Parts: sequence; structure tokens; C-alpha cells
Amino acid sequence: MRCSRGGDFSNGQLQPFGNIEVNPSAAVLNYGQGLFEGLKAYRKQDGNILLFRPEENAIRMRNGAERMCMPSPTVEQFVEAVKTTVLANKRWIPPPGKGSLYIRPLLMGTGAVLGLAPAPEYTFLIFVSPVGNYFKEGVAPINLIVETEFHRATPGGTGGVKTIGNYAAVLKAQSIAKAKGYSDVLYLDCVHNRYLEEVSSCNIFIVKDNVISTPEIKGTILPGITRKSIIEVARSQGFKVEERSVTVDELVEADEVFCTGTAVVLSPVGSITYKSQRFSYGEDGFGTVSKQLYTSLTSLQMGLTEDNMNWTVQ
Ligand code: PMP
Repeated sequence: MRCSRGGDFSNGQLQPFGNIEVNPSAAVLNYGQGLFEGLKAYRKQDGNILLFRPEENAIRMRNGAERMCMPSPTVEQFVEAVKTTVLANKRWIPPPGKGSLYIRPLLMGTGAVLGLAPAPEYTFLIFVSPVGNYFKEGVAPINLIVETEFHRATPGGTGGVKTIGNYAAVLKAQSIAKAKGYSDVLYLDCVHNRYLEEVSSCNIFIVKDNVISTPEIKGTILPGITRKSIIEVARSQGFKVEERSVTVDELVEADEVFCTGTAVVLSPVGSITYKSQRFSYGEDGFGTVSKQLYTSLTSLQMGLTEDNMNWTVQ
């Protein structure tokens, strides 16, 4: 779907997956004026297809668009476009328990500009791909390294929205960590180099004495939809959940650590390395609280339990 600056994204149409033509002077290519989203569709035992809170992705894209000086689809247009794309690709959705269909909406400034300015024209598109587990470890514990040299986001920057430049910022740190055998990188705040922020593509939680803590949303981390859902599920199960500043020192004493995200779902963290010290978690790395929340969330997403939160959409 294309539209002008003040435009309307209601003229969508399906087309086969393939290359798209972009002007070399497009704002997205030159100035990073682009946003994306990620969500999943699951196939249920009865054949029905479930989406998980797609309107939350729509709202996040709209918030990001405001920060990036872009027009954006309405929540209804976004959800309708997701549904239409998923239904047209139904045959690619893996059978129950074998994975999901990853849905990637993109919003970008495709109009040509030369001097730095928002584009005069925008494109919203969605592509999909069947996926299995995000980390090669599957749901087995992952190993993180705390990054002390590189930062993902700065106060007043774009860390709180899902813009493409944030991911450019993490490529180097992530490549170095992977080459050393770590699954991913845990970032610290860039002012004190002391407070936990998030992982390259997921949010972080620690559990200590059954209290669950996660860094609060204050502009430098992405407000994850899985993060929000886990907080709500945990509270509904009687856990105390704190959204606050979490220091890197708290990793030493934590009983469990896990990350959340659409792609990673809920991944237990088996170990974290910080300044050459390695901290390990849980007996088999998948602690009791993490496992309980993982089961509750995935049962909801896959339609294995009744959706008493009213989060899934057919
Ligand atoms: N942080 C970052 C940087 C991410 O890319 C993602 C994935 N979207 C998340 C957190 C988790 O967000 P969500 O649960 O909405 O997928």
C-alpha cells in the first residue's frame, strides 16, 4: 500500500512475494525512515488460525510512526491487512506444535528526498514466513553476554520504537558475541553502564524469591508485547511483578532470568557473562517460575487453553 504524507492506507492488495522497486533516493534507504513489526499466527488443532494481540502491534507502529514523522495505517487497517495476508498464506502455517507463521509488517518512507527530511510518500507492506524456534538452543537455556562497550539506545533517541536503525546499532555487538559462542547480547544503559536494558530482540526479566522484575519502559527499550503479556499473566497468577531500574549486580543473586519477545516467546537464560564472570541459573536452566509462565503464555497463544485474557484473534 502506498500513500502520500497525509495519506490513507486503505488501498491494499495482495501480490506474490518478490523484489520491490525503491527509488535510490528514498528516505528509508538514506535516512533510515522505516519501522517494522513482528507477530505470529498459530494453527490450532481444530484448524482455526490464531493471531496474538495484533492490535497491540498496530498501536506500537502508530506510536513509532509519530516519532519517525510518518503517516501510519489505522489500527483497523493494520489488523485487517494482517488477517488478509495470513489467510492468503494459510498453507504456509505449520501444523500445531511445529512452529508458526511469522508476520512482518513494514512501514517506510519510499518517497525520494535528497536533503534530510521526511519522505513525501510512504509504503506499508506485510510479508510472512513460517518459523520454528528463534535460538538454535530451541527452548533450552540461552547464554548471554553483558555488553559494556556498545549501546543500543540513548535517552531521547529512538530506542523505544521499532525503527530499523536500532537494529543496525546492535549488529556489531551481536556478531562479536555470536562469534564467541554466546546466544545474544544483554545491553546496559549508556549513562551509567549499570542498569539492564534489553537483549538485541527481546526484553529481560529476573526472578528473585518469587518476585519478578523487569526494566521499566522509559524510552530506551522497546515496550514488548510479550513483556506486557507476561507481566499480566504473572500478576493474574499472584506473582509480584516490579517494573523498575534493575542493576547489573542483581544478576549475581537472581534465581532465574528469562527473555521475552514474539520471536523468542519466553526463553530461559542459562548463564550470563559480565566482565569475564559467569553467572548460571536454575537447575536445568529453566527455572520453575519461567517454566510456569512459558506454559501459560504458549498455551494461550496456541489455543490450548481457554483464552480468559481475550488476547487471541481468529
Ligand atoms: N526488544 C527488542 C529490541 C525487540 O526487537 C523485540 C521484538 N519485537 C522485543 C524487545 C520484544 O517485543 P515483542 O514482545 O513485542 O516481540
